[in-house]
Amino acid sequence: MFKDLFRSKQKYVTVKPASVRREIPDGMWSKCTKCGQIIYNKELAGNLKVCHKCGFHFKLSALERVALTVDADSFVEFDSDLLTVNPLGFPGYEEKVKSGKNTTKLNEAILTGQARICGFPVVIGAMDFGFMGASMGSVVGEKVTRAFEFAIKRKLPVVMFCTSGGARMQEGIISLMQMVKTSAAVARFNEAGLLYISVLTNPTTGGVLASFASLADIVLAEPEAQIGFAGPRVIEETVHQKLPPGFQTSEFVLAHGMIDKIVERKNMRKTLGLLLSLHSKVSEVALGE
Ligand SMILES: [Zn+2]
Repeated sequence: MFKDLFRSKQKYVTVKPASVRREIPDGMWSKCTKCGQIIYNKELAGNLKVCHKCGFHFKLSALERVALTVDADSFVEFDSDLLTVNPLGFPGYEEKVKSGKNTTKLNEAILTGQARICGFPVVIGAMDFGFMGASMGSVVGEKVTRAFEFAIKRKLPVVMFCTSGGARMQEGIISLMQMVKTSAAVARFNEAGLLYISVLTNPTTGGVLASFASLADIVLAEPEAQIGFAGPRVIEETVHQKLPPGFQTSEFVLAHGMIDKIVERKNMRKTLGLLLSLHSKVSEVALGE
C-alpha cells in the first residue's frame, strides 16, 4: 500500500523560475483582522501584506512568500508533480485537494526548492494555508524529507516558512507518520552539521509545530502569529482553566523561551541573509578554508 502512496516518484523535478510569479486572483479590498481597517489590495500588496495602520501580518501564499524572500530568478522548484492518492478512500478528499490546487496554484500544501537569499544558496520550503489549511499529509511529509535530503547531499542550509492547521485528517495514521519521518530527516540533517532556520507564521499548530517546525537550530516567527499544538479552546476545555492573555502568540512563546526571535516581515529577508552570512563564515573557519 505504501508503495502506491505517490503517483510520481521522480526526484528533484525542476520548473521554470517564473512559476513563483503566478498570480492568485482576489477581490479589490481586504479588511484587517486585527483593527478592522479596510485596505485597498494593491496598497496591501505594496506593503508586503502588512496592515499599515496596526502592523497586522496577513497570510502570504507560498508563492508570494518565496518571491518576497529569494533573490530574483534564483528559485528552482522541487517535486512539483507529487500528488496524493487518497490512500484511505476518505469521502470528499479529492474535491478538497482540487479546491486547494485552485486557491494556491500548487499541487500540495508546501512549495520546496533551491534558491539564493542575499546571494547565499539555500534549500527553501514555504507552506500554504490556502491548501487545506496547510495540513501535513503524505506529500507534504515527503516533500519536506526530500528537501532535507537534498540539502544534506549538497551541504546547503535549509529555510522553512511554516504554517499549518496540523495533520491531514483525511490521511489518518499516514498523516501522523509524517511527523516521525520529517523529524528523522531533520535529525540526519543535524548530524551533518548544517544550518536549519524555521520561520513560524500565522498560524503554526498541530503536527507541523510538533515536528520539523520547532526542530530548527534557529526558530524565528512573524509578529502575533498563533503558535501552539492544540488550539486555545481545546486546551481550556481540557484543563478547565482560563488561559492567560496573549496565550500562543509569537510574543508569548518568545517570552517562554520557545522561539529565538520575532522578525517583522519587512526585515525577514535581511535577517535571513545575516544569519546565513554568519554561519557560512563559521563553516569556512571550521573547514579551515
Ligand atoms: Zn490593522
